[in-house]
Amino acid sequence: MKYIFVSGGVISGIGKGIATSSIALLLKAAGYKVAPLKMDPYLNVDAGTMNPFAHGETFVLDDGRETDQDLGHYERFLGESLNSNNIATQGSIYLSVIQKERNLEYDGDYVDIHNVTQEIIKRIQTAGQAKKADIVLVEIGGTAGEYQNVLFLEANRLLKLKKHNDVIHVHITYLPIPGNLGEMKSKPAQMSVRDLHAVGIQPDILLARSEKSIDEPRKKRLSLNTGIEEEDIIPSPDVKNIYEIPLNYEEAGLTDRILRKLKLKRKTTDLKEWRQFTKSVNEAKKTVKIGIVGKYFSIGDFTLSDSYISVIEALKHAGYTKGFKPEITWIDSGKVMEDPKILKGFQGIIVPGGFGSRDIEGKIEAIKYARENKIPYFGLCYGMQLAAVEFARNVLGLENANTTEVNPKTKHKIIHIMPDQEKKLLEKDYGGTMRLGAWDALLKEGSKVRKLYGKAEVSERHRHRYEFNNNFKKDFEKNGMVISGTSPDGRLVEIIELEGHPFFIGTQFHPELKSRPLSPHPLFLGFIQAASNV
Ligand code: GLN
Repeated sequence: MKYIFVSGGVISGIGKGIATSSIALLLKAAGYKVAPLKMDPYLNVDAGTMNPFAHGETFVLDDGRETDQDLGHYERFLGESLNSNNIATQGSIYLSVIQKERNLEYDGDYVDIHNVTQEIIKRIQTAGQAKKADIVLVEIGGTAGEYQNVLFLEANRLLKLKKHNDVIHVHITYLPIPGNLGEMKSKPAQMSVRDLHAVGIQPDILLARSEKSIDEPRKKRLSLNTGIEEEDIIPSPDVKNIYEIPLNYEEAGLTDRILRKLKLKRKTTDLKEWRQFTKSVNEAKKTVKIGIVGKYFSIGDFTLSDSYISVIEALKHAGYTKGFKPEITWIDSGKVMEDPKILKGFQGIIVPGGFGSRDIEGKIEAIKYARENKIPYFGLCYGMQLAAVEFARNVLGLENANTTEVNPKTKHKIIHIMPDQEKKLLEKDYGGTMRLGAWDALLKEGSKVRKLYGKAEVSERHRHRYEFNNNFKKDFEKNGMVISGTSPDGRLVEIIELEGHPFFIGTQFHPELKSRPLSPHPLFLGFIQAASNV
């Protein structure tokens, strides 16, 4: 097995996740089986307890593991589903070590940092073995030079010591172009490599991120100062279309340099479909205007696009495939509350996943507007639950109908808590305890979703505590809201869809998590198709 470590330097947010995903795609296209592994420096055991508005989207894998958004990039670029073996937070690593110590598995020895680095190496090897991979691609979270990720780098150093010919390190660095100087500066990049030297790591390849392509004189200087060959300094300028990044790397010779260093031969070059998709992104001229309604705020460095990245990507995958460029507008639900007419002109409306009671009335108002004005509506998880609440209130006439998440005392509990979830909440057992991961659903014959999926049984990813209250099933169906997807035992409502509407679908799951550029999600395709007709 071969190992590639990927680190970042100078600043955070230079696109390490996308770069790692691109490398994974390129090595797969070259004929190798790749297992990506994200090593996150934080002490949270998983990403489930983190606020998406401060830390970006919580992604969910088939086996229910809650992760950061990079796992989403990996899956989308690789076109493969990953699992818990592909993610390790420092918290989960410490937890394993401490649990082993409590179980007397260290035979009376004292337990220290070496046991932690050994556990890190074990996770790396497990990631590779589980996938029978040729290459494990380890992305080290954080930035070179900080304390947080030093143990990951130490594990890298130790593995390199043991398997000299099988381990390489790719460092993604940044060359700023300060406005007042107008020229690219290489000093911070030199310093970030020096930060790696300080922990015993000499990078083999440098990805030079910058606004523009790195020029020859700076390449020379950087090479001289870092000991990295010029050919191993790969330009990585800003791009408009992220799907071009792997193609740019391929062109710049990155795949060949990596293979050479790992003493591997290229078996194939299989990028045809990726090129085609990238071309369709550049060629899509007609726009389709989609409004995403929510209560929006952000804390720290993250933006809304980080909090809902999978929704945005799923819209792009479906849009570009159909020849449309999705134009996404974030609509504050508070503003919809004041005047729902602000939704006029949108060709499709989405209410995405969410938690709590913040500004849900505006979201319900937006759903009402979409239903009454026959604007395509797509409700994702909370967006499905609130669509059910809206229908109960305004079609069935059930006054103050609600979800018990917002109003536990409501007379008409349209959405209520799942019994096992209630117990967990009472026990204050929050981490990893929602209904998580992939679950099967059966689709109703003759329904719109069955037609869109083209099959009767699907598997989709979930992350929720509340569910549709089956007592209302009959009333809903009698009045035109079809229960078009349920769990195989029929007990959980997974999809609702409105009859006589161009597209009004709510899913209890998150379809966006399974959409990939080369296999866009059928429901997003249907939504974009309907929106493009408006
Ligand atoms: N808050 C809702 C629940 O827990 C919906 C969750 C979501 O949108 N992911 O059931």
